[in-house]
Amino acid sequence: SDAIISVRDLRVQFPTTLGVVNALNGVSFDIPRGKVVGIVGESGSGKSVTARAIMQILEPPGKITEGSIDFRRSADGQQVSQMLVGEDVDLGSAETASGGVEITKLDPRSSAMRALRGNEIAMIFQEPMTSLNPVYTVGSQIEEAILLHQTPDKQVAKEQAVEMLRQVGMPNPERIARSYPHELSGGMRQRAMIAMALSCHPSLLIADEPTTALDVTTEAQILSLMRKLKSEIGMSIMFITHSMGVVAQLCDEVMVMYLGRVVERASVDEIFYNPKHPYTKALLRSIPRIGSAEHQPLEVIKGSIPDPYTTVTGCAFHPRCPAFIGDVCVDVIPEETLLAGPTTHGVRCHLYSDQTAGAPEPASTGG
Ligand code: SF4
Ligand code: MG
Repeated sequence: SDAIISVRDLRVQFPTTLGVVNALNGVSFDIPRGKVVGIVGESGSGKSVTARAIMQILEPPGKITEGSIDFRRSADGQQVSQMLVGEDVDLGSAETASGGVEITKLDPRSSAMRALRGNEIAMIFQEPMTSLNPVYTVGSQIEEAILLHQTPDKQVAKEQAVEMLRQVGMPNPERIARSYPHELSGGMRQRAMIAMALSCHPSLLIADEPTTALDVTTEAQILSLMRKLKSEIGMSIMFITHSMGVVAQLCDEVMVMYLGRVVERASVDEIFYNPKHPYTKALLRSIPRIGSAEHQPLEVIKGSIPDPYTTVTGCAFHPRCPAFIGDVCVDVIPEETLLAGPTTHGVRCHLYSDQTAGAPEPASTGG
């Protein structure tokens, strides 16, 4: 399939003095090239851990214990090792037969991983000050990224930095370039961070709740910018959110996560018009009405995510599930069932265990 990244059976653990936290329990998915894939779920479901595992920036003591992350850059057959020129990069055994790179085989501190992070995969966060340095002007930080990734010409880099700020919708890019991060509003800082991430020309942008802290109007502007990036430069985007409303506005495909597993994945239309998993249905019921407070917690689902040191047997959603069907939910971890239909629609729930349409293997949901 034409996926920019394929994740298979990814497991991440945080060994602590209180016990081992299994943050990801075998996560598999593809991000098709040029598509926006939304990852949705409550906090603690493993959305950010998935993103951080791909970037190899897990908070200590988190580590990948199993699985693979195969990153393939370009449709024109260009190999990842050729993309990382000038960085003195040796992918070694991490280079795959298809010319991609197996990220789990790279040391997080290696030059190859750093080059990949800067050049090919960029990440933006809920809090832009994570990425912006408070002591340099916004313009100089973007210029630095351009000098590193695009041109050695300082004057050209300066002009391009202003152009990047214009592209992300800054009203007065020349003035913004001369500003320090603290002089900007939250929405402006978020745009500046996006401009900086884009000036590295990444082929995959990972956005971890970039609009959660913003007001509704600014959020709408940032989402429209994301749509523009997707359609104009064909960027592949993995967009993490806890809001089904955001998913509806932006995404082509959706993965719903619960306690470190993908419980449902499908095209955005399937998720909204033909949801299957009881957890997905509950998330959909939690969408606030237009005009009500945005980003309210998902209180319609009874109970809460269990504490991370407890292992829930069987289906991890069973203590909260309104559709609970008995012992099988408590005792047996549901495998993914692929439902019959024109696009991939996978669901992990015993309600559907006898409806398998094909091999339980992740594939692009097309569309
Ligand atoms: Fe609910 Fe059982 Fe399905 Fe889990 S497997 S979501 S507990 S019905
Ligand atoms: Mg998070």
